[in-house]
Amino acid sequence: MENTRILLEQNEIPTHWYNIVADLKTPPAPPLGPDGQPATPEQMGVIFPGAILEQEMSDQRWIPIPQEVREIYRLWRPAPLVRAVRLEQALGTTAKIYYKYEGVSPAGSHKPNSAVPQAFYNKQAGIKRLTTETGAGQWGSSISFAGQMFGLPVRVYMVKVSYDQKPYRRLMMQTWGAEVFASPSELTQTGRAALAENPDNQGSLGLAISEAVEEAASRPDTNYTLGSVLNHVLLHQTIVGLEAKKQFDKIGEYPDVVIGPCGGGSSFGGIAFPFLADKAAGDKRAENLRCLAVEPTSCPTLTKGAYAYDFGDASGFTPLMKMYTLGHDFMPPGIHAGGLRYHGASPLVSQVVHEGLVEPVAVSQLATFEAGVQFARAEGIIPAPESCHAIRAAIDEALKAKVTGEPKVILFNLTGHGHFDMSSYERFFSGKLEDYDYPAEAVARSLEHLPKVG
Ligand SMILES: *Cc1c(COP(=O)(O)O)cnc(C)c1O
Repeated sequence: MENTRILLEQNEIPTHWYNIVADLKTPPAPPLGPDGQPATPEQMGVIFPGAILEQEMSDQRWIPIPQEVREIYRLWRPAPLVRAVRLEQALGTTAKIYYKYEGVSPAGSHKPNSAVPQAFYNKQAGIKRLTTETGAGQWGSSISFAGQMFGLPVRVYMVKVSYDQKPYRRLMMQTWGAEVFASPSELTQTGRAALAENPDNQGSLGLAISEAVEEAASRPDTNYTLGSVLNHVLLHQTIVGLEAKKQFDKIGEYPDVVIGPCGGGSSFGGIAFPFLADKAAGDKRAENLRCLAVEPTSCPTLTKGAYAYDFGDASGFTPLMKMYTLGHDFMPPGIHAGGLRYHGASPLVSQVVHEGLVEPVAVSQLATFEAGVQFARAEGIIPAPESCHAIRAAIDEALKAKVTGEPKVILFNLTGHGHFDMSSYERFFSGKLEDYDYPAEAVARSLEHLPKVG
């Protein structure tokens, strides 16, 4: 029998993360402060420790992974690379489909890859508490777990609609010792103002970020952590692609297409950037490599947004970042099932999309769940709704290969399992989910509120 799970030993966990900034044609546009000038490390130091800020601004290609972090990674890493043989058979495709499975982490997704180093660097800097926001609950549970590993208390502002709909994610966070509040909350000025305007406010990721940042900025012993978007988060996630490369080396294969779901962009950057490193280095195998960042049509940041400076949060606390954005006051439609609801996207992913190194793809909701169910029935694993976006695109690529008869090698990031998302599956099975394309007029309206820069 041929090996379909390509495994590494624990001592093969990479020793360095990869920083794509070293290989970009133009340096990234700097984040801007309230005065329109590049944000200073002092301004950002109010909510982040020095080591994280250094990574955020670094142009070094390789950044060492602290031994303490590798020791925690060992709890679930290296993650398996799996050939989806039964899915290939079900599709009748000539393509080989591989997935990197990040659902083996304690929190069930790729997010602990960054939560662990973030907790470590804060602990090392003498910080006593962490705040964060969480949407679907994946990041909140990851940082709750990571905080617990280093003895750091965590306070989580959880978007109200998810707080009500996902009690088990909240209980996971509480099991790992975190405090969890529905956002908007009465604990911050931002929360109180939102509730005064509308007591039934269901919250948004942008609003929850504002609350978590406000609290961290107002307390010297407290720092803020973010689960996606920023350069240091993408840096930490490159462990995914770096391991996958080692695994492909073991079997003498190389992908033609690398696919990931894209919300804030961390897992996508994590799997794709190490392969783009090969392309930048002139590696022949990567010459025709395609990278697909897959987003929902209901939150079409990369495919319909503007590439412009915008705030990272709803109320304008964060520095301005140059990125694809739908406008910081974009309100995601409640019907959308996946957790890919952020109005912006990572500045690094935005830049590689803008430079044409990465193709953005938008897929509709029903098609993603159809792909997820087909995957579960072939491969057994029930994917997170976010991951289903990558599966949809991978299946579409495999079906195209079937027509042309190409022996294409497809790699996608199976970012997490869907065990806490079964209510979304329930809504899919009972026909309650609908396709929804965010209307172009609504995008245009929210883009009118982009901050004026320069
Ligand atoms: C958070 C999450 C995503 C999207 O976030 P990115 O930063 O774009 O990776 C995708 N998949 C899962 C399972 C998640 O939890």
